Amino acid sequence: MSLDRSMYDLNITHAPDLMGHFGVFGGMFAAETLMGPLQELKDAFQSAWADPQFHAERMDLLEHYVGRATPLYHAKHLSNAVGGAQIYLKREDLTHTGAHKINNTIGQALLAKRMGKKRVIAETGAGQHGVATATVAAMFNMECDVYMGREDTIRQAPNVFRMKLLGANVIPVDSGSATLKDALNEALRDWVASCEHTFYIIGTVAGPHPYPLMVRQFHAVIGQEARAQMLQQTGKLPDVAVACVGGGSNAMGLLHPLRDDPVRLVAVEAAGYGLNSGQHSASLLRGKKGILHGNLTYLLEDDEGQVEGTHSISAGLDYPGVGPELAAMFDQGVLDLDSATDKEALAAFQQLTKTEGIIPALESSHALAAGMRIAATMREEQSVLINLSGRGDKDMNTVMKLLGEQV
Ligand SMILES: *Cc1c(COP(=O)(O)O)cnc(C)c1O
Repeated sequence: MSLDRSMYDLNITHAPDLMGHFGVFGGMFAAETLMGPLQELKDAFQSAWADPQFHAERMDLLEHYVGRATPLYHAKHLSNAVGGAQIYLKREDLTHTGAHKINNTIGQALLAKRMGKKRVIAETGAGQHGVATATVAAMFNMECDVYMGREDTIRQAPNVFRMKLLGANVIPVDSGSATLKDALNEALRDWVASCEHTFYIIGTVAGPHPYPLMVRQFHAVIGQEARAQMLQQTGKLPDVAVACVGGGSNAMGLLHPLRDDPVRLVAVEAAGYGLNSGQHSASLLRGKKGILHGNLTYLLEDDEGQVEGTHSISAGLDYPGVGPELAAMFDQGVLDLDSATDKEALAAFQQLTKTEGIIPALESSHALAAGMRIAATMREEQSVLINLSGRGDKDMNTVMKLLGEQV
C-alpha cells in the first residue's frame, strides 16, 4: 500500500501546557543546566513540525525505509476461535527493525540533523530502542552511544551485538540495579555534559517535556493509518482499541488519533506473575505518583520512595514508570486499564501464531490477551482493533525456555 498523505493529520491536539503538564502529570524535572537545551529542543520541534519540508522528508523515510503504511489485518481465524467481535491487527510488526520504535527514532534523528547535532545518545533496557536508534544513526551517519544496564547487556546479548554491527557504542551501566532506570540516569547525565553537540533520543512517551509530546506525535501515524484503514475496510470505526503499555509509546500512537471518537480506549499493563505478586510492571494499576526520568507520573516505588524492580515476561514492558499523558488520561477516566499475566501473554502468543501464522512480540501478546478477552464479550458485528507493536523473532529464546522446547 502506498502512502496516502491525506491520512496524516499534522494538527497537534490535546497538547500539554507550556511546561509540559498533562493535568498534574508530566513537567520538566531536570537539572538546571538542561533547561536551556530542553527549551531549544521545544523550539526546534515546534519549528520542524510547522515546516512542510520536515514532514516531506519524514514521510518519505516512513514510506521507503520503514515500510509504511503498515497493513490493517482482519484476523478472521482468530476472531472465529475467540467467538465474539471481529479482531483487527495493526501490523507494526512489519516495519523495518520489526517494531513501532523506528517511527520515533526516525523523527528524532531528523530533528537532530536539523539542529546540527552530530552525535546521538539513547538509553535502552531490552535493547530494542537501542537498536532502533543505532539503525537510524547508521543511516544518518551520526555517532551513537547507547547506555544499557550491565545486567541487560548480558540478558540481551544479541541486541548488543546488533548495535555494535550498526556502528554504535554500547556503554554498560553498573550503578544501582544495573538495569533500565540506571541507564536512563546515565544517559541524562551524559546529556547534561554534552548537549551542545549531542541529541538525546528518548525511547518512549516519557522524559521531561517536550519528549512525551514529541514521541506521541511521531507515533501518531499508527492510529491515523489504522483509523483510515478501519473506515476503508469496514465502513466504521472500531468499538474498542487496545495496546500494551511499557512506557506507552505504541499505546499513545494508536490511541491518540482515536481519543475524540466514540471508541473505547484500553491500555494493557504487564501483570507478570500476577498484580498482587509484587512481580509485575503495572505502574498505572499498582503505582504511586512520583518523579522518574524528568516527569511526574505513576511509578512503582517502595515506601522509601526507591524505584522498585519490575518483572515481565517481555523485556520491553519492564519499565517502572509510564508516560505522563497516560497517567493523566487514566485519572480523567478516558483510558481504561487492563492487564495480562506472563502466562496469559504466552497463551495469546501461541494462539495468534497457530491461528493466523503471525508470531507476535511478547509485549504485543499482552495486548492480544486482553483484546481477545474483551472481544469474547462482544457481538459478531462489533470490532476490536489491537496494536501488534512488534514481531516475536527476538523472543525465541525466552519462549523456547518457557515451553521447555529445544531446536
Ligand atoms: C518497546 C516495545 C514496547 C513497549 O514500549 P511502549 O513505549 O510502551 O510502546 C511494546 N512492544 C514492542 C514490540 C516493543 O519493542
